[in-house]
Amino acid sequence: MTFEQLGLSEELLKAISSAGYTEPTPIQSQAIPAVLGMNDVTGIAQTGTGKTAAFVLPMIDRLASGRSKARMPRSLIIEPTRELASQVAENFVKYGVNHKLSMALLIGGVSFGDQDKALMQGVDVLIATPGRLIDQFERGKLLLTGLEMLVIDEADRMLDMGFIPDIEKICSMLPPRRQTLLFSATMPPEISRLASQFQTMPKRIEVSRPAQTADTISQYVVELSINDHKARRTALRRVIESREVKNGIVFCNRKSEVDIVAKSLSKYGHDAAPIHGDLPQSYRTQTLEKFRGGDLKLLVASDVAARGLDIPDVGHVFNYSPPPNSDDYVHRIGRTGRAGRKGESFTLVCPEDIKLWDAVKKRVQKDIEPYMPEGLKEELEELPTSGKSYGAKGKSKSSSRSGSRSNSKSDNRKDDRKQAGELLPPAPAGPVKGLGDHVPAFLQRPI
Ligand code: ADP
Ligand code: MG
Repeated sequence: MTFEQLGLSEELLKAISSAGYTEPTPIQSQAIPAVLGMNDVTGIAQTGTGKTAAFVLPMIDRLASGRSKARMPRSLIIEPTRELASQVAENFVKYGVNHKLSMALLIGGVSFGDQDKALMQGVDVLIATPGRLIDQFERGKLLLTGLEMLVIDEADRMLDMGFIPDIEKICSMLPPRRQTLLFSATMPPEISRLASQFQTMPKRIEVSRPAQTADTISQYVVELSINDHKARRTALRRVIESREVKNGIVFCNRKSEVDIVAKSLSKYGHDAAPIHGDLPQSYRTQTLEKFRGGDLKLLVASDVAARGLDIPDVGHVFNYSPPPNSDDYVHRIGRTGRAGRKGESFTLVCPEDIKLWDAVKKRVQKDIEPYMPEGLKEELEELPTSGKSYGAKGKSKSSSRSGSRSNSKSDNRKDDRKQAGELLPPAPAGPVKGLGDHVPAFLQRPI
């Protein structure tokens, strides 16, 4: 299958080939003709399978004819997070280079002046997070009566984040005659219900989810014998130091853990920064751009913040603990080993994680090899933890560690001990610039 066979315009085909794409992904080759044919579409395919272009490309051609009116967007794309909204906007810029479509982005945390101006003039595409959209609608800033197309993207993530009532509310503000597209990685019953409520005879396109994780990923488990966060942090560092890590994502289950782990890694000389929903937008954008550009080695993230983020070519994934949902394990480690590249994943498992870990093993149906960096066991036995008393064993063993830290002479053990009782404040590791500083340039002008 080629892009040429899908019924897209010449201008769009040119933009696609300059973007470097040679052939459509399975969800794209099925969804694009269906959208061009004016059908409602329910598209289900795993994260990272190119769902964005599956709707952005045909939307550009659909919107190419016709004009927008003041305050009346012609199409609306709802995204669960600001980052995802920005990424979709970037996609419109990339593929829309040969078109004259206008766009606005309604997301929390960024200055609104230019977007408001664009909206006033009328936009072809409005990309929004639910809260901000409802807010602006209720203030009378926006008329939705002219809407021709609606996209509910990352629907399962919307569900996880509690946005379903918002989506229902938004749909009730829209004209009934419109094309509605819904994309999701999974299809839980709540999403099926949403689809049947707001779509008209949708074409259901399902690309079988990878029941299995890619073979290009080597998966390892690091089994720790105690439940202790300090031990986890130490283990995480040693694992990272024992591998050749070009870049990687560290996944945590809680926002507070994201902050603590990022701080701890930075403190021990690792280039790491946190990303989660409570951090200022400017900081999140800045961090993500650094990571994408190769200027940040380790991104410490929560599942929600990371879901759907377009981060190509990650060499390593580290799970600070197994995720509460075994599907998320597949999503997490699917961040590496993409497009035939090799990747490694490491999951820290303490006794308290056994249930979660069993669920993961059942889900992936693969042997996950145990891994233990040299010297880590001994080091952990010496750690001052709530479960173990400090100094019970000889300290000389620390020299057998194979860690790559350069200042190993003075050792960080004292710092370790100090840190054990210390709760790190949940603040970003780098300077936080003023809101709006990192609004990408493309948001400042119509495309
Ligand atoms: P999803 O929404 O399904 O999680 P995205 O739309 O974010 O996936 O796309 C994931 C990655 O795949 C992005 O880096 C995107 O640029 C890339 N991609 C999308 N379509 C193609 C294609 N046809 N060929 C190659 N790469 C693609
Ligand atoms: Mg997506």
